[in-house]
Amino acid sequence: MPANHDVRRDALRKVLVEKDLDAALITRLVNIRYLTGFTGSNGVLLLTHDDAVLATDGRYTTQAEAQAPDVERLITTAVMTDLVRRAASTGRVRTGFEAHDVTVEAHERLLEAVEGATLTALGWAVEGLRAIKDDDEIELLRRAFRAADEAFAELVATTLSGRTEKDIRTDLERRMLAHGADAASFETIVASGPNSAVPHHRPTERVVERGDFVKLDFGALVEGYHSDMTRTVVVGPPADWQREVHALVAAAQQASIDLFRPGATSADLDRAARDVIDNAGHGEHYTHSLGHGVGLEIHEAPSLRKDGTDTLAEGMPVTVEPGVYLPGRGGVRIEDTLVVRADVPESLSTSTKDLLVVA
Ligand code: ZN
Ligand code: ZN
Repeated sequence: MPANHDVRRDALRKVLVEKDLDAALITRLVNIRYLTGFTGSNGVLLLTHDDAVLATDGRYTTQAEAQAPDVERLITTAVMTDLVRRAASTGRVRTGFEAHDVTVEAHERLLEAVEGATLTALGWAVEGLRAIKDDDEIELLRRAFRAADEAFAELVATTLSGRTEKDIRTDLERRMLAHGADAASFETIVASGPNSAVPHHRPTERVVERGDFVKLDFGALVEGYHSDMTRTVVVGPPADWQREVHALVAAAQQASIDLFRPGATSADLDRAARDVIDNAGHGEHYTHSLGHGVGLEIHEAPSLRKDGTDTLAEGMPVTVEPGVYLPGRGGVRIEDTLVVRADVPESLSTSTKDLLVVA
């Protein structure tokens, strides 16, 4: 797949100019993957205004050459010090580093090893760039969401009652793999009956019964890109309270989606959904934030929450996932991922949001 690694590196160079830096030392592997395509478990990237050097060890000589042919490669056992030394030796002393990733100990060692190096915090610069996806990334996300949607459609056509949460989990994951997923994108949540009132319940041996809500939060991983969706279904005809809670969560989600456009703020989007739930008297039963970006990580920028300061921009895929959880009875969450567009957002998950009644 043609990826735009050089375009991404140029975008980071603009950040270097803004921050008056000579170079950036990139240590987070997910950021190295984003900027070069390299997926090995050991590596550091030094990006300067006119070149890029990827350092890794001998295990990855062939892989680095294949995945990152357009950057200089350095095979060494001291990936970090060698690159900082190199930056310092070329007079590029003002080097930004990922202070949220490098340990205090590694930082001290670097300063000791390399005389004249000035390391300064780069901040979450690469994560900031990653929030807005290019067309290739959106296409990989579409594939990841399609695998999850198709698996879900098949699963809800089967009988869930009489099966354990763990069995349903394994079935759903197997179906995602059959539809092209490389793996599940995170630990699948299958939460039935009273367990559905636990926002991040882990599947157990509990047997699903008639009358249960079954909350499924799951996603597929395709070429490093994560999908994430939640649907809550009901086994057998729903009780009135189940219809009401489900309709309330759907309305809360829609209130936020109605505001989904460039410039919308995290706090406003969160408030839109939360107000609907508060006004129905269930404020205390909605205990988590509204959503997050998805991409090379399952949770990434931007973050949608009550005190959030992020702002939506075109090309950001972001989840919207309000929930109402009634302890001891059951809960509902509905989660979709929308790509911010100039006008109407694109929904990556296409499964129906109506309350599905399953066997
Ligand atoms: Zn989720
Ligand atoms: Zn999520």
